[in-house]
Amino acid sequence: MSQKIASDSMHINIEQLQQELNVEQREFNELQQRHFKVRAKMALENEALRKSFRGASDFLMGKRKAVFPDEGALSALRDRGEAIRQHSLANLPELLERLEKNLTANGVQVHWAETADEACTIIHDILTANNARTVVKGKSMVTEEIELNHFLEARGIECLESDMGEYLVQLAGETPSHIIMPAIHKNKAQIARLMHARAQTSDGSQVPYTEDVDELIGNARAILRDKFMRADAGISGVNMAVANTGTLCLVENEGNGRMTTTMPKLHIAVTGIEKVVEDFSHVPELLTLLTRSATGQKISTYFNMISGPKKAGELDGPEQVHLVLVDNGRSRIFSHPTLKPTLQCIRCGACMNHCPVYARVGGHAYGSTYPGPIGQVVTPQIAGLEKHGDMLSACSLNGACGEACPVRIPLPELIRELRAEAVSPQFTDATAVQEVMGRGAKRTLGESLIWRGWALTHRFAPLYRIMTTAMTRGRGLFRSKAAAALLSPWTDSRSTPQPARRSLHELAKARGVAGQYQNNTADKRGDNA
Ligand code: SF4
Repeated sequence: MSQKIASDSMHINIEQLQQELNVEQREFNELQQRHFKVRAKMALENEALRKSFRGASDFLMGKRKAVFPDEGALSALRDRGEAIRQHSLANLPELLERLEKNLTANGVQVHWAETADEACTIIHDILTANNARTVVKGKSMVTEEIELNHFLEARGIECLESDMGEYLVQLAGETPSHIIMPAIHKNKAQIARLMHARAQTSDGSQVPYTEDVDELIGNARAILRDKFMRADAGISGVNMAVANTGTLCLVENEGNGRMTTTMPKLHIAVTGIEKVVEDFSHVPELLTLLTRSATGQKISTYFNMISGPKKAGELDGPEQVHLVLVDNGRSRIFSHPTLKPTLQCIRCGACMNHCPVYARVGGHAYGSTYPGPIGQVVTPQIAGLEKHGDMLSACSLNGACGEACPVRIPLPELIRELRAEAVSPQFTDATAVQEVMGRGAKRTLGESLIWRGWALTHRFAPLYRIMTTAMTRGRGLFRSKAAAALLSPWTDSRSTPQPARRSLHELAKARGVAGQYQNNTADKRGDNA
């Protein structure tokens, strides 16, 4: 019904539209509180959503392919990207100190935050000390991760997203569904309804209803431009922080990043500690990998290099620049021998675009800031397996993400490792730094016993025979209600297994080939000689 109302601009009832959006927002919030499986099921039942994600994934995969025509060149570039990121991680503590030293020399004030709450408090304190009440934000996943907007708004500071996708998501009261294209789940008609119902021009009037993309963007641009002129502070993310020169690099396409970092008097950049690179010579290769993998562009429309506040005599630029370096669990990841490559990520989103599960359930089903394969790896490590361990099941281990990753993060291996962590016995060594938060949270006694029994039967031939005989003779039981209830955690999303009438051993015996394999093997070993 909402679609019908929205599509006929002559008969739009703005109050009704606003009510509909309020209901949708409430439903979205409720759904985000539900279990992963419920969210995924709802997403699969939403045809419009599936169409949006399928279309967007195909489009982005096609664009990426077109800018990497030479497989050999791509492979060499990926090797180089991997080597640069591994070099950064191998020297992380020292590079961070060098970055701080050079940034400070450039006049940038550096702050360290161990937790999300600490990061938000630091940013709030900086804003308060400068009497800043209105903030414009450039796109930044780490500020989504620490939930900065909620923190500031709860303290009376207006925080407006200036990236078009983030702006739409903020208007809708939702969270991003993709790390590069936050509003990828919305179609044109939905955006038109949203802008008309919730966006207001500087004179307080509603934005006219339109489904014309240029007009929609023009309307948003007019609103945001006005906010840029008045904002007390700008908050941005960082794509790469160069240790040798103390430079913050920011990649973007809309120009909002440049406006955020230059127009207000105060600029606060926020980044995870892993974003450091040693030298400027490392930037071009990572940049070209990032933009080609993310949006299929050879280079982004804007590439900003921030190396300090404006100097005496300069007309443009902020008077103060701060950098907040956020740990929020990254040191723990850094200490893990197997999971450390998680920190190689340059946040291009290619793993999501290539993931068949993500293309079907979309970003919100994951219930975390970072969806898709990289989300499955990052989120449980940052926020704990007990809270986010379920999302690890959203993977068929087909390997497409690992193949697409420009810095060769072995995503399927990391997902497998985290699955093992989720069901490993807890408290092996409570003091071990490398232990993933919430280790063993998904371990259940019943499942452990089943797997132990399974392993035993495969280790001892007589037990194996007893098991296969029991299963073939009792195969009818698999169709009973009791079996359906018992097996439901497995069969809710898979077909119920149906044992054959006769076991493989019985069939082999009946055909007179039983024992042939053992004899052949014995022959090869020379036992008959
Ligand atoms: S894991 Fe790789 S493909 Fe995925 S966002 Fe990070 S860098 Fe891109």
